[in-house]
Order: sequence, then C-alpha cells, then structure tokens
Amino acid sequence: MAGIYIHIPFCKSKCAYCGFYSLPSMKLKECFLEALKAEIVARKDYFKQRSHCGLDPQPPSLMGKHLNPPINTIYFGGGTPSLLSIKEIGELLQLIKETYPVAEKAEITLEANPDTLSLDYLKGLRLLGVNRLSIGIQSFFDNDLKYLSRRHDSQHARQCIDWAKQAGFSNISIDLIYGLPTSNAEQWNRNLDLFFELNLPHLSAYALTLEPNAILTKLIEQGKVPPVNEEDALRDYEILCKRAVENGYLHYEISNFCRSGLHSKHNASYWFGTPYVGFGPSAHSFDGNSRQWNVSSVDRYCVRIPELSYEKESLSVEQHYDEYVMLRLRTHWGIDLKWLKREMGERFSTYCEQHAQPLIDQGRLSQTREFLYLTDQQMLFADGVAEELFWE
Ligand code: SF4
Repeated sequence: MAGIYIHIPFCKSKCAYCGFYSLPSMKLKECFLEALKAEIVARKDYFKQRSHCGLDPQPPSLMGKHLNPPINTIYFGGGTPSLLSIKEIGELLQLIKETYPVAEKAEITLEANPDTLSLDYLKGLRLLGVNRLSIGIQSFFDNDLKYLSRRHDSQHARQCIDWAKQAGFSNISIDLIYGLPTSNAEQWNRNLDLFFELNLPHLSAYALTLEPNAILTKLIEQGKVPPVNEEDALRDYEILCKRAVENGYLHYEISNFCRSGLHSKHNASYWFGTPYVGFGPSAHSFDGNSRQWNVSSVDRYCVRIPELSYEKESLSVEQHYDEYVMLRLRTHWGIDLKWLKREMGERFSTYCEQHAQPLIDQGRLSQTREFLYLTDQQMLFADGVAEELFWE
C-alpha cells in the first residue's frame, strides 16, 4: 500500500488565520503545472527505492522485492485544489495513473473551497473518478466566516453540500473551526446540529490556533479583532466529543470523526506509517525509512529540477519509535504494545510500558490489554502525553 499527495499552492485570497503555504494569486499556475507533471514522472521509482523500517505494514513477503506497491489513496490538498479546472485535474490524474499502479478502488480525495464550486464542476470531478470531497465550510454562521475572512457565506456553504450530493458524492467531509470569539456554546451547538442534519459521513473539526505568520495573529495583537480564548476551545471540544458520539460518529483522531468505516484512508496512512510521496511545493514524502520535503516556494519549485528540489532526513530507530508513539496516540487505535515488541524489539515495548504507568495512574492515559490509548477527553492533550513516552 502507498499514497500520493499533490499540493496545489494557490488560493483566491489569504484567509486571516491561515498558516499553510499558498499564494493568493494564480500567476504561476502554468509553470507550476509543468513542474508538477515533471516531478510526478521523475519520482516514478520512489516506492521501489524504499527500505523496510519496521513501521511499514506491508507484508514481509513483499519487502526487498523493489516492487511498486499499489497506490490506494490520492489526495489533492492545498491551498485550494478546486481552483484547478476539470481538464487540469483530469490531466494530473491521468498522468498519475500512467506512472503509478493506482488500485482500482483507490480513495481519491480533493479539498475544495465553497467559493470555487458549482454543480457542473462537481459533476466533472465525479466523472474523473474523484470519490471523496473535503469541503472547507469552517462555519455555517456569517459572523464566524467574516472573522476568518473566508470568501463564502453560510448560504453558499449549504448550497455546495447539496450540489456535491446531487453530483453523486456520498463520501463527503466538511471542516469546521471551533473556539471562535465570534461564537459561543449555543452557536457551536447549532453548527453541529446543521452538520448532523446534513447526514454526512465525515467531519474534521479544528480549534482555531494562532499561527505566527497569520494575518489574524497580527490583527489581534493590534487590538483590531477580538482575541482567541483557550477556554472557549476546550468548551467547544467537549461539546463536540459528546455530541459526535451521541450521533453515531467514531472519534478516530483528535480532529476527525466518521461514520463506521468512512475514515480518511489517506490521512490514516500517515498515522500507520504507510509510505507516501508528495508532489508540489512544500509537500512531504515518506519512503518507510526517511522523510523528504519539497522547497516551500512556487518560484523555486518551478525553476529547479523537481527531483533535486527536496531535502531529506533519515530516521533512526529511536526517531521511528517517537513518531509511532506521537502519531498513534492521536488516534483511537492507540499504541499496540505487542506490535511494538514484535516489530521494534522488547527494549522499546518495555520502555513504553514503564513510562506509561505513571500516566495511567494520573488518569492521563488509558490501557486495555496490550493497547495504550487516549479517551475522547484525554486526546486533546496527546502531544504532552507523547512527550513523556518519547525515547530519552
Ligand atoms: S483557503 Fe485554506 S489554504 Fe487557502 S488561504 Fe484559506 S485557509 Fe489558507
């Protein structure tokens, strides 16, 4: 199994809270697409070169045979991938299919922003084989959307979801943001009511965080907009966990909730250590043994030879252990001590168990048989718990 991520680094304008790499202009689109296609082809042997690190769930029988594993997930992220035309997305998908062995039932996700969508566009995506849509709704309330400087309004947000259903999408996820100073418990509950009424299979909900380079951070510092209060985020998170479970959703990762079996397979592959290759500026790749990341600049991405434009870091076995702990604690699957012992050795499983005990005693970590995991309420503090389990 393996995955492909394609980063589309353009947006119509910059949202106030955004900390992602994206340009508020399409000026460089043509040269970017050329460089992107060159990179897709140049890295065709990426998965063949990987080596077994002990975290790769691929059966040992396939290890060392240098086969290209089937691509089970393709993810167009950004930026705003829905700024590309149907023709442009179709050409990219076609090239990927010609270059990599894409599985027949691969999950193909595209992130979309409401202000770029129309019914015809969504029908076009379905015809191309895109079978999962992640829509950046963020809120169904105009005062929240204005605070975040989103380009759509609440009416259009709901319209897009109707269009997506009409176009034939059933696997639809939306993003919501909580902990907003323009909201309160009642409004957040109403946002969740609307989500549940829409009967969608997946929700990604994030606390509003202040990124150092975001416009919002500066506006708050200058006293021009209301500040963000951590207690509001904690309140909303508790409401979210409780109501999602009551409504039949599985809380499978800190920020992600799904109906049974409809988790994001692409994102889950990051947490399971599945290899993936990332194309486009700032995209990351993981070959099972090392991480690479592309240059975070469209200009430089366009002029440099794509296969030489990334930096690389090899992971030591201790770093693999730390990553496993950190990533798995964020999920409901948790740390599998048996797996740790079998794949990484007793020294790691014993170390993990010993360091987990005080956390279990303090009620910050839970254990059922050989699994260490965080409950709904504990999950928000996953990073702090993981740090205490990291290799010294
Ligand atoms: S649409 Fe997303 S990537 Fe683009 S500016 Fe807004 S938050 Fe950032």
